[in-house]
Amino acid sequence: MTNPIPLGVLGYPAGHILSPVLHNKAAEVLGLNYHYLAYEVHPDFLEEAVRGAQAMGFRGLTITIPHKVAVAKLMDELSEDARLMGAVNTIVFEEDGNLVGHNTDGIGWLRFLEETTGEHPRGKKCLVLGAGGAARAIAVKIAQCGAAHLDIRNRTYDKALELAQFVEKSVPSSKVNGGGLDDLYSVADGCEIIVNTTSLGMWGDAERMATTPIPENAIPEDCICSDAVYIPPDTEFLKAARRAGSQIVRGTGWLVYQAAAAWKMWTGVDMPTDIVMEVLNQSLELRLGGES
Ligand code: NAP
Repeated sequence: MTNPIPLGVLGYPAGHILSPVLHNKAAEVLGLNYHYLAYEVHPDFLEEAVRGAQAMGFRGLTITIPHKVAVAKLMDELSEDARLMGAVNTIVFEEDGNLVGHNTDGIGWLRFLEETTGEHPRGKKCLVLGAGGAARAIAVKIAQCGAAHLDIRNRTYDKALELAQFVEKSVPSSKVNGGGLDDLYSVADGCEIIVNTTSLGMWGDAERMATTPIPENAIPEDCICSDAVYIPPDTEFLKAARRAGSQIVRGTGWLVYQAAAAWKMWTGVDMPTDIVMEVLNQSLELRLGGES
């Protein structure tokens, strides 16, 4: 067998990154000769790492925290999503030497939302909690989808306002408000989709893991609640949403579907998402060590 075609992810730090598990499982199941590794790259060496991967015959790269915005400047071309989001999470090394930057966070989230609930943000009142990198991708995607209204709420008020303005500029037809976390009861009232993109609920800190980004009794009945956090898969927010009578959309699905979109660009083949989801859940169980 010839050497595998290299794929990888660049992040800083990189020890916690789960995407090798997903992509290597896909390669194994499909019998394709790709191998995917995680690389810890300091921001000062990002350009060298990208050029080096291209020189070594990589087919593509995943780009994660903190490089998603900085790497966009190194691309020869950007997909529409990457341009509108101002961030790249997937690079394709084209045969003609071009570096094409994509962003699969929004489309991965949307596909999983549609598959899980049969619903779409078009015409809906939506609320995004958080204003960091994940919020940027989701807020732009919700706006592109033609939501009736979008609110972005964040602990740091100014960042929510900045993101709201950014989204309205990227998608001129959109109506977006930004603000703090103080009046979530009135903001959430009548919402049909709520997406948590804060790190509240995430494993690694007991207090953070026990916290929801919105009070349980502010979650409207019959709402769709989606979490970016995937460890644990059932966050306190999703548990509260279920008790409130909402449908839930797990962060694990979002993670797998954004990876599946990148995998298809690199290999031309669909990722076997059911099997990959199973292996992700097994890895998370091991990492949680029975705490979930
Ligand atoms: P980020 O850019 O660092 O943003 C973090 C966000 O969380 C900010 O809005 C921050 O608010 C907020 N936050 C942090 N601590 C908080 C607290 N104690 N109270 C209230 N808000 C708090 O990170 P990111 O890249 O957006 O990622 C956010 C989460 O999404 C992470 O858990 C990440 O693993 C997850 N994620 C998942 C996927 C997926 O595929 N499922 C994809 C992307 C990200 P301030 O602005 O006030 O600091």
